[in-house]
Amino acid sequence: MTGSESRAQAIYQITNRTPLEVEKTEPLSDIWATDVFSLATMEEALAKNAFKAVKKTVQTGEPLDAATADIVAAAMKDWAISKGAKFFSHIFYPLTNATAEKHDGFIISNTDGGAITEFTGTLLIKGEPDGSSFPNGSIRATNAARGYTAWDPSSPAYIIHTDNGATLMIPSVFMSWTGEALDKKIPLLRSNDAMNAAAQKVLSLMGETDIATLNSSCGAEQEYFLVDSNFANSRPDLLLAGRTLFGAPSAKGQEFDDHYFGAIPARVQVYMQDLEDQLYRLGIPAKTHHNEVAPGQFELAPYFENANVAADHQQMIMTLLKSTAKRHGFICLLHEKPFAGINGSGKHVNWSVGNSTQGNLLDPGATPHDNLNFLLFCGAVIRGVHKFGPLLRAVIASAGNDHRLGANEAPPAILSVYLGEQLEKVFADIQSGKITSSISGGEMDLGLDQILNFERDPGDRNRTSPFAFTGNRFEFRAVGSQASVHGPLIAMNTMLADSLEWIASELDKQLSGGKDQSAAVIATLKSLMDDHGQAVFGGDGYSEEWHRAAVEDRGLKNIPTTADALPAYRSPEVIELFKSTGVLTPEELESRFEVYSEQYVLAIEVEAKLTIDMAKTVIYPAALRYLSDLSLTNTGMAEMGIDMDNSIAVKVAEEANAMMTAVASLSEALEAEGFGSTEAHLQHCAKGLCNLMLEVRACADSLEAEVADELWPLAKYQEMLFIK
Ligand code: ADP
Ligand code: MG
Repeated sequence: MTGSESRAQAIYQITNRTPLEVEKTEPLSDIWATDVFSLATMEEALAKNAFKAVKKTVQTGEPLDAATADIVAAAMKDWAISKGAKFFSHIFYPLTNATAEKHDGFIISNTDGGAITEFTGTLLIKGEPDGSSFPNGSIRATNAARGYTAWDPSSPAYIIHTDNGATLMIPSVFMSWTGEALDKKIPLLRSNDAMNAAAQKVLSLMGETDIATLNSSCGAEQEYFLVDSNFANSRPDLLLAGRTLFGAPSAKGQEFDDHYFGAIPARVQVYMQDLEDQLYRLGIPAKTHHNEVAPGQFELAPYFENANVAADHQQMIMTLLKSTAKRHGFICLLHEKPFAGINGSGKHVNWSVGNSTQGNLLDPGATPHDNLNFLLFCGAVIRGVHKFGPLLRAVIASAGNDHRLGANEAPPAILSVYLGEQLEKVFADIQSGKITSSISGGEMDLGLDQILNFERDPGDRNRTSPFAFTGNRFEFRAVGSQASVHGPLIAMNTMLADSLEWIASELDKQLSGGKDQSAAVIATLKSLMDDHGQAVFGGDGYSEEWHRAAVEDRGLKNIPTTADALPAYRSPEVIELFKSTGVLTPEELESRFEVYSEQYVLAIEVEAKLTIDMAKTVIYPAALRYLSDLSLTNTGMAEMGIDMDNSIAVKVAEEANAMMTAVASLSEALEAEGFGSTEAHLQHCAKGLCNLMLEVRACADSLEAEVADELWPLAKYQEMLFIK
């Protein structure tokens, strides 16, 4: 079959598909969290004392004693076996965006050749995968491979069902033999602790006496594309790079705005329902689904949960989006930019912090008392975004996200914070000294009139801001669709911890200097805004004027590529931030810089190799075949005395030659070595390889527009995007 015949075959197969039948859906109450070893399940399975101990561990992070761990392990094993599990696995979150697991059987054989099952507290608490194949930067020499996984009781264990049977999954942290974090969960938990400790100080200074442990929350909206697997399997770029490296634009794209929130295609509906039923069984609160802006693009958002659990759940959502798609004859593309010229995919990370006694500290609330706490926490975020903008840019940096950031569909590569008109005015007033505090009639009158009638929903949203206040939370909109949410959450919690520490010491100074509470708050916030107010921006983040003003007038950084962004991990401010908050040691941080840099380089190199390979073996031959058709025709016609216009042949020949010249340059650039530093290697990828790939692509895409459709070997944009 020639390439173009396989294209026709794919279309035939797809149009004759019948949607997979989903088993009759069961009521939510029957399936909700049935595969989760939740607190409720434990309460049923455990004796009172053991349950009390484990509940305390879950809620406060206090370690569990060995005897109770044994009891919990036994109950967990019995429950898992009753669900059909024969294996268990610690699941952990290495420095990639994926998860890792090592499966062990419950079985051990006894001396008379029989088999019994065993699962002790020791096995539950600690696993030992051979850690040498996980990216670890320079933390371990390859000969010192030992790594440990350790149970994280604050994220519930669950059962995962595959064709290979059921497995008990135990969310875990992953560390080196010497105790360094090799994963993303350890710093997330530490960042939450640091935020909690600093927040406690601020709230105590604000006169709160009963302060429960603070936790961060996360609700992440996930965008994705679905493409029929018949097409995807015929495109090596989709299979290996997760995006199209070639493809001329479709005559119709998203300009009609007819996909966004439109009726969901029947096959996709069945897919979503299947997916959501699996999520519900795992206790993942999938809440909304809808079509997104680009054709073939969709979104799923769960209800928000505490950040540690939400991050684990987010990983599972990505895994299930992909595995379920396969069953339905789709491939699910989580890449940030699968198709050039139409919108890419992001993951909006909604984030707030709070506890059971003071509630959500990023909710303005309805009383002045709440408002003061709110203003301090909101101010802390502003300071964090300003001070650590480059870090926030670094944690969203990836080869894929570079295609989105800065384009006019996604937030710019400049980190600013959007507050909404009302709140922006409050902070501006504080800064300009318009708000003063006074005591009147024995009651505190803050003069903060405008804050009292705060509406939870600011009238408008700013879609052009990378970091926006949305009524009771911040939405980090610039995160890439395939990224794990750990990095952004770690950065936000940690910068908040740092800001709250600063606020606590400043407040303390003001209060000891004799100011009353509200005056101390206002003075603190004024000083904060004087230093960091430049990060607040409510205008159009896509405009050229902002790109100029942000950099020239406000001193913000425009950091266009991953190569420019990652070195922030090595900056003294960021090293100090993570060190002072205890979230990452300088060694752990440096290892992250190395791992993320390596991942970027690898991603670009794979794309470059594929570009060369596809240009040479798929596209060039198609152009030659067409040229041969044209020349045969021209010769035949000439024999009959008819002169054919040969301008198309000339164009095809020229483009094909130009493409091969660009391929030669790209091959040469790919061979280059000896960069001297990681930073230089990153720049070589961003400036050298990426631009050369674009050159090859430009020629190939013009060829696609010239070569006879029936000779074109690759599924075209209009087919992949519109045939479902
Ligand atoms: P929109 O598209 O308007 O941004 P969605 O409903 O699609 O809104 O998604 C908003 C996300 O924010 C959901 O995951 C939601 O649960 C989450 N969210 C709502 N309130 C909070 C909060 N206080 N903290 C963190 N996340 C929140
Ligand atoms: Mg949103």
